[in-house]
Amino acid sequence: MILDKNIHEECGVFGVYGCHNASDLVYYGLHSLQHRGQEACGIVACEDKNFNIAKGLGLVTEVFNEQNMAKLKGLNAIGHVRYSTAGGGGLENVQPMYFRHHTGDFALAHNGNIVNSNELKRYLEDLGSIFQSTSDTEILAHLIKKDKRDSERILAISEALNMLEGAFSFLILTADKLYACRDKYGLRPLSLAKLNGGYVVSSETCAFEVIGAKYIRDIEPGEIVVIDSSGVKSYYFSKYQKHKMCAMEYIYFARPDSDIEGANVHTFRKESGKLLYRQHPIKADIVVGVPDSSLSAAIGFAEESGIPYEMGLIKNKYIGRTFIQPSQELRERGVKMKLSAVSSIIKGKKVVLIDDSIVRGTTSKRIVKMLKEAGALEVHVYIASPPITSPCFYGVDISTYEELISAFHKIEEVKELIGADSLVFLNEDKLYEASKRKELCTACFSGKYPTALYQSFKEANKDGKF
Ligand code: SF4
Repeated sequence: MILDKNIHEECGVFGVYGCHNASDLVYYGLHSLQHRGQEACGIVACEDKNFNIAKGLGLVTEVFNEQNMAKLKGLNAIGHVRYSTAGGGGLENVQPMYFRHHTGDFALAHNGNIVNSNELKRYLEDLGSIFQSTSDTEILAHLIKKDKRDSERILAISEALNMLEGAFSFLILTADKLYACRDKYGLRPLSLAKLNGGYVVSSETCAFEVIGAKYIRDIEPGEIVVIDSSGVKSYYFSKYQKHKMCAMEYIYFARPDSDIEGANVHTFRKESGKLLYRQHPIKADIVVGVPDSSLSAAIGFAEESGIPYEMGLIKNKYIGRTFIQPSQELRERGVKMKLSAVSSIIKGKKVVLIDDSIVRGTTSKRIVKMLKEAGALEVHVYIASPPITSPCFYGVDISTYEELISAFHKIEEVKELIGADSLVFLNEDKLYEASKRKELCTACFSGKYPTALYQSFKEANKDGKF
């Protein structure tokens, strides 16, 4: 991933039911999901109907300490890592959110974005709800509790989920149950595992490994999995079911050691690199990948082409992700600190530079310049995904056309703007081939959105150009 492109993973959720030291397990789980959000995190644990919370702004290792972890007692807990998308930053938006209610307290953690949140908020406010945060996650809590059938809570949750449009993986923790729910389009991942007689739910399977949990299956689109002392039960809140997994999860967001709906992320990326070479063969001296998320595609490209893979770019691992720094100036400084070209490898070479995607193009330009300054004869930029021409409304922080270089420029123009000797992209159909899937969300490449869009499109298209 080219670093200052201003594209962010949205969030990660992790839940544990029926295990000793549940909050410790959630801590390790969240640590493995840290790549999905570095702005804030939190854990809510439950013991004998008492809920305890620890949350704050910062990384998992910064927010949690011996003191606040000590009060997170109980066999059940859920946690969240966040990069703010809908609703913005601020402590009031940090999840999990905890709600008190006379029928029973509960906590909520959400990954994704609700596209009809403005309409639902207005509807709920007209019924008397008062929102404490600007996050759209709070909407689900109000929708569930406006339903009076608490003895049939599953019906209240089903009805509430049916009112939401967009992308979501929700965890709901009550005094005696953990609910894991996925939107009917299947846009965001959510998987279930077993651990020592208890259960674990995670946005990504990589987090199971670290605590020794055994993967059971993915939560299905439109499904609510209910975990309690009697085991696991499955309900469906919607008969409409699609498997429109976000293609960017495979391309960039997820960790390479995660499996998403049966396809390993590293294997997908490696395959995309092979397909990229087959689609655009080239003769060159070396293949260089942009660390870290493009390395698997670069390995695949090198394997297929026979061109040697070289460590031409080195990343300084001890600097936080550049894109969490707010200003363009800071991001630019961060990129220089974070990446360096190895001139003894690059000098005098015709380089194929593999990256997973281009958003703004500003960093692509700097990396090409950096490689040329290091002595590269030619730099050919090969992107292992199609041009991003449309915003994402499902929780990824590319929500306007303005920030997308390919929305306004043809490939040849982008090539000129970034100073590359050539620029090519992978075709959209190759994403299906690499993932061995028939369905995916590819809306940011094709403009074909799987859901209704409500106000989102208008907001993304303020100047009416699209
Ligand atoms: S629009 Fe793009 S980033 Fe958003 S969910 Fe679809 S594939 Fe993922």
